[in-house]
Amino acid sequence: MSVVAPRFRLQEMSWRRLRDWRPEISSEMLILLASAFFALACNALFWRSAMATHPGSVVFATSLFALLLSVHALLFGLLLWRWNAKVLLTVLFITTAFAVHYMNSYNVYLDADMLRNVLATDRKESSELMTPALLLPLLGYAVLPTLLLWRVRIRKRSVGRALLWRVAFLLGVVIVGGAGTMASFQDISALMRNHREVRYLATPVNYLIALRQNMSSASPIRKQPKLAIGTDAKAMPRAASSKPRLLVLVVGETVRAQNWGLNGYARQTTPELSQTGAINFPDMHSCGTSTEVSLPCMFSPFGRHDYDEKKIRDHQSLLHVLEHAGISTLWRDNQSGCKGVCENLQIERLDDDTLPGLCADGRCMDEILLNDLATQVRAKPGDRVVVLHQLGNHGPSYFQRYPARFRQFTPTCETADLGKCSRDEIVNSYDNAIRYTDHFLSRIIAALRGMDDYDTAMIYLSDHGESLGEKGLYLHGMPYGIAPEEQTRVPMLMWFSQGFASDRGLNLQCLRQRAGQRADHDNLFPSVLGLMQVSTSVYDRSRDVFAGCEPVSKM
Ligand SMILES: [Zn+2]
Repeated sequence: MSVVAPRFRLQEMSWRRLRDWRPEISSEMLILLASAFFALACNALFWRSAMATHPGSVVFATSLFALLLSVHALLFGLLLWRWNAKVLLTVLFITTAFAVHYMNSYNVYLDADMLRNVLATDRKESSELMTPALLLPLLGYAVLPTLLLWRVRIRKRSVGRALLWRVAFLLGVVIVGGAGTMASFQDISALMRNHREVRYLATPVNYLIALRQNMSSASPIRKQPKLAIGTDAKAMPRAASSKPRLLVLVVGETVRAQNWGLNGYARQTTPELSQTGAINFPDMHSCGTSTEVSLPCMFSPFGRHDYDEKKIRDHQSLLHVLEHAGISTLWRDNQSGCKGVCENLQIERLDDDTLPGLCADGRCMDEILLNDLATQVRAKPGDRVVVLHQLGNHGPSYFQRYPARFRQFTPTCETADLGKCSRDEIVNSYDNAIRYTDHFLSRIIAALRGMDDYDTAMIYLSDHGESLGEKGLYLHGMPYGIAPEEQTRVPMLMWFSQGFASDRGLNLQCLRQRAGQRADHDNLFPSVLGLMQVSTSVYDRSRDVFAGCEPVSKM
């Protein structure tokens, strides 16, 4: 007893000391400490990429540190005050822990587009990203610093003194940052010029700036009515004996051209489609590297050739032009919505359906989009354009994108935490998901063949590709200018019923030859208008893939 008691007292004393540990520091010191923590602990990817240009250079590293520290200190110096510092820093610690984890796991860059992807991600997508591998970064980057933060007392100052101190602090920060930059000016400006993407790695300033950009008027978060386009659209008159036309436009998700069987991939991922006589476009390129960019872009007349994100988001889409021409549209969705493309038009969200066999745990297989399709089409008279928005190959949970009987390529990666799987396992699951899209599209064609009260056609195209470990990259969303081809080359496929092709006067042999040439998302807008014979001032015949493969008198 006599031995145990003092030790117990010792423990009790140190515990009490820890409990009473409440150091008082100024808000400027807190800002400096937080900035140093972010610069040193949360920027592994930034340091690795930046230092790769000057391996081992102490001067360069010191300059970068001064720059990174002062950028954060400057930003926090403007945002954080005694009354909000603890709450805001807590939010930043937690958000940064998530950001660091995903940036390190998937080598993704947090720019404005990527952040919009994250913000637009729905509840189900987020829950798929919650993996056990998150625990450690959450503890190290969020829980520990937050515990320390709340032990600290921030010094009280009168308003006048606080402002004076803050101005002096900001001046000091600018001098340190400026001096650091000047010390390696040439190297740092070369880095910013030649490796712009490194900017998107500096955390958390990357997502704070991206958030600010998304708050501006181009943002989908702030809604304003869209400006009308193609209000002069008219459907060209047809013979009274003609059947109404039905075009099913399938917007795929995350399927890349490299793994598409019809493009000559080493694996047959499209066995069913290869039996349908559909026309394949092997050299097709996407407008963006994410759904958020590609979807509005491919349905817009401005496209990539005249790219202006704000202009695209501010204007109506292809679907509105079709409606102006009296062709009723319908958007059926098994994903995260139409991103403004179908604003104020008919949309059916099927992703929350509960149909047994196709839906489980709040997710549905893409075949849900076929449920009741014919009834929905016939609900309105005349020509119709129906968009089916797939969940497709949405990552990282590729293994959840197909029913068990499509688990053809094995072994598969059975977790959303891609770091736990070999590259082969990841590719196997990804290819199985394509194999399911092959089946899904073939079922659409079979359904359209059966609807002989219509002349039917189907166009399938994917919104963007996916990196599967090439160059150390995973998933998608790289800034477009530096995105690898895996993220920007996508499949496109078309199928026409005999009635459609002959009534429309399409020369399919000619179209097969055209399909061998380069095409991109910018072709969609004019091609659908051309195919549906809509005349309007926003139609650009030079980008219509059908132009030249039809009798001129028909257009
Ligand atoms: Zn997408």
